[in-house]
Amino acid sequence: MISVKEIGNSFLHVLFPHVCSGCGSDILSEETMLCLRCMAQMPETNFHLHPDNPVEKIFWGRLPLVNATAQYYFSKESLMQHLMHQLKYKGNKDLGRQLGRLIGNDLVQTDRFNEIDSLIPLPLFPAKEKRRGYNQATVLCEGMAEVMGSEILKDVIVRNQHTETQTKKGRMERWQNMEGRFELVRPEKIQGKHVLLVDDIITTGATLEACGRELIHANNVKLSIAAYCYTSR
Ligand SMILES: [Zn+2]
Repeated sequence: MISVKEIGNSFLHVLFPHVCSGCGSDILSEETMLCLRCMAQMPETNFHLHPDNPVEKIFWGRLPLVNATAQYYFSKESLMQHLMHQLKYKGNKDLGRQLGRLIGNDLVQTDRFNEIDSLIPLPLFPAKEKRRGYNQATVLCEGMAEVMGSEILKDVIVRNQHTETQTKKGRMERWQNMEGRFELVRPEKIQGKHVLLVDDIITTGATLEACGRELIHANNVKLSIAAYCYTSR
């Protein structure tokens, strides 16, 4: 016997089809943005289980971290690139939160990441965030927080746009200008805590390093890093 609610849902589905963010095929469950076929195709790194994984190695000798990980391997023209595009440029926040939950679910199952107090999304340049309307790292944090039970801190660190001309600067300063200057404005909010800095993708780690260097100025803070994707380029 089909209930009135089910008939209603079917009508809604015809009027507003709910499709997979990965492949565009129809999905009936409103709770997911990804079909089972796409979910099965996502190339997990399992870095969260392994100390000395390739993401941790990126930061060796550059930034003192407790742990670091990225959830999936990124490659061009792939499902992961398509999902990244949805997350960053198409405003697909429901997908972003689901990806965050997938990351968070894995992290809480290992003792390497199960004692995180605070999630800190890597700040975008303010002008960029204004244009985009959101920070994709914050959206990932929202999904992660749902399953990790950690707070999200968005006002602890800010990213400032460079203002002076870059031509007169030395190489080091030019590099800093490209990454922007991060400024720890509320150190008291993270002192004595284990914080997880979150970004969408890790490649060279330069921006995360610049941000992390500021965060560790807080008293007695422990820093870990997590991202949605990893690529060695
Ligand atoms: Zn799909």
